[in-house]
Amino acid sequence: MDYGYGDQVAVVTGGSSGIGLATVRLLLDSGANVAFCARDEARLRAVEAELAAAFGAGRVLARALSVLDEAAVKAFAGEVEATFGRCDLLVNNAGQGRVSTFAETADADWRAEYELKLFSQIYPARAFLPMLKASKGAIVAVNSLLAYQPEPHMVCTSSARAGVQNLLKSLSVEFAPHVRVNSILLGLVDSGQWNRRYDAREDKTQSRADWYGALAARKGIPLGRLGNPAEAAAAIAFLGSRAASYITGAQLEVSGGLSRHI
Ligand code: NDP
Repeated sequence: MDYGYGDQVAVVTGGSSGIGLATVRLLLDSGANVAFCARDEARLRAVEAELAAAFGAGRVLARALSVLDEAAVKAFAGEVEATFGRCDLLVNNAGQGRVSTFAETADADWRAEYELKLFSQIYPARAFLPMLKASKGAIVAVNSLLAYQPEPHMVCTSSARAGVQNLLKSLSVEFAPHVRVNSILLGLVDSGQWNRRYDAREDKTQSRADWYGALAARKGIPLGRLGNPAEAAAAIAFLGSRAASYITGAQLEVSGGLSRHI
């Protein structure tokens, strides 16, 4: 599908793995020049080399940084402007979930989780806003169904994610009419965090297909399987594109039907 990103510039945080990487690939494939960041420099450089070979070095910019380092995020925005001259789409994807109940979660964990979830939105939005305004661009945030459907074993992630949805709604109003702000709400996607949990499984005889199949059944996912990163990327690319030009302040569930609310 052509999302119409020719001549546009997109920025993806957490672009070296999973959903972020699938999004970077899809946007490059759809004609955008893409800048992305992540912390682990070795993995970032390996991905950058692969993408440069596939799409051309001049279309890819990769920087090793944490989205929680405001000065680094600002400098990244400066480099994007110097390299590509504009930014049409910011995908705030970097992050991970925390598995812990209320009893297991220390104050420092609460603070770290709230910092990650909120400032991974705030710092990139602040840094890229002038370019997004100039291009009448869009922000797409990657969030989770946990925002509306909390899980007690992910108590601080769930509540922080609810705060993110609230924040995004305010930004969609404050940044209008220049910049659209939307989000996707994920259920379970077969990428980084679930791969790590698969690697850490107790029963090492259980195959990958069996482990994921059992997980989908246990969670009661109506479509009967986990999503894949490309399916999340497709929703991100749609919301960021001109095909979604009258959509702002909205969320799109990418969960195989997992949500129980209407
Ligand atoms: P992955 O672990 O595969 O990818 C996460 C990416 O984010 C990596 O590139 C990682 O690189 C980067 N990253 C993490 N923290 C930072 C940081 N502080 N600064 C910059 N980059 C960072 O995860 P997924 O693709 O599975 O998840 C993508 C997003 O979707 C995450 O925010 C996750 O919480 C969310 N999500 C995922 C779900 C799922 O089922 N997979 C469900 C709900 C939400 P590095 O470690 O090198 O920094």
